[in-house]
Amino acid sequence: MLDKPLHPDTTAVVAGRPPHESDRPLNVPVTLASTYVAGGELEYGRFANPSWSAFEDALGALEGGSAVSFASGMAAIAAVLSLVPTGGRIVAPRHSYTGTIGQLDDLAARGMVSVEFVDIADTAAVASAAHGSSMVWIESPTNPALEVADIRSISEAAHAAGSIVVVDNTFATPLLQRPIELGADLVVHSATKYIAGHSDVIMGAVVASEPERAASVLARRTLHGATPSPLDSFLALRGLRTLPVRLDRAQANASELVARLTDHPALAEVRYPGFGAIISIVFTGGADAADAIIGRTDVWVHATSLGGVESTFERRRRWSAEAPTIPEGLVRLSVGIEHVDDLYDDLVSAIGQP
Ligand SMILES: *Cc1c(COP(=O)(O)O)cnc(C)c1O
Repeated sequence: MLDKPLHPDTTAVVAGRPPHESDRPLNVPVTLASTYVAGGELEYGRFANPSWSAFEDALGALEGGSAVSFASGMAAIAAVLSLVPTGGRIVAPRHSYTGTIGQLDDLAARGMVSVEFVDIADTAAVASAAHGSSMVWIESPTNPALEVADIRSISEAAHAAGSIVVVDNTFATPLLQRPIELGADLVVHSATKYIAGHSDVIMGAVVASEPERAASVLARRTLHGATPSPLDSFLALRGLRTLPVRLDRAQANASELVARLTDHPALAEVRYPGFGAIISIVFTGGADAADAIIGRTDVWVHATSLGGVESTFERRRRWSAEAPTIPEGLVRLSVGIEHVDDLYDDLVSAIGQP
């Protein structure tokens, strides 16, 4: 028996499995049940499900906390934001995911909370905004600006100010960034993206550093009924098993593409935080030049979302909800696990040879 902690790559494979007993399946099966025979721990299908628990055990083990799964990333975000008391102030990145900004704007418009949007890469500005706040929301890297936050310093400042710290860790995944180790209280995921990883599931999760906080998040899920489907939970856990190898390949592809695309004459900027598999390229010719590549690729798919095995691209300002400070000509590339030469050749056949 091993007497030392497992590497995350191993945890992704072994966590959330049934015990090694004869005739037990290796994976927790999909349990389709709206109710259970009374008197046990499960009781009702909105309270508990073994397929959720298996996914939560594995994600919790990777993030170093207690996980609660949700119907979507947005449902996870709503549950966390609902922990802020009425009249509280939330500090959040101005380049957060559009859905996060949408929820914050909605809460503020209804007078429930006030929101202060900040440049999350400006640690001193975030620390000073944290004074008197109830929650500091971090997304790092941000979607799609790819700014990186100093989670450790922001957490220290926020805690000194009596605020709780949430990190949307969707882009980095627990393999590249473990916010709880850096001081965060809660981690949020769109499991739709890298965790499930195959563009076939919508799901979310919250991971809490303290069991009591996980219990209050779980209470929101039960109250609001924002529960995932058991089949989606099974698929998300199946995806999580291969996250280490998928991410290795996608990240290697991304850094190679960055090296080859930097200095391309059609691009004003190639943004990459140095890790992960999302690249944002900014066309010199603005929206028209960016839109001209649509329909000219065979491997790359024009689609929203990210984090799947397949490479996708999208001009983000095609959405009116995207922040006006994101350039019109910015195209977000979600780099998949195909061969890098095919990805590069396909892309430059659309953008033009350098
Ligand atoms: C997609 C996304 C979300 C929302 O998740 P859904 O699963 O689509 O509800 C939240 N945060 C980030 C960073 C995302 O990319």
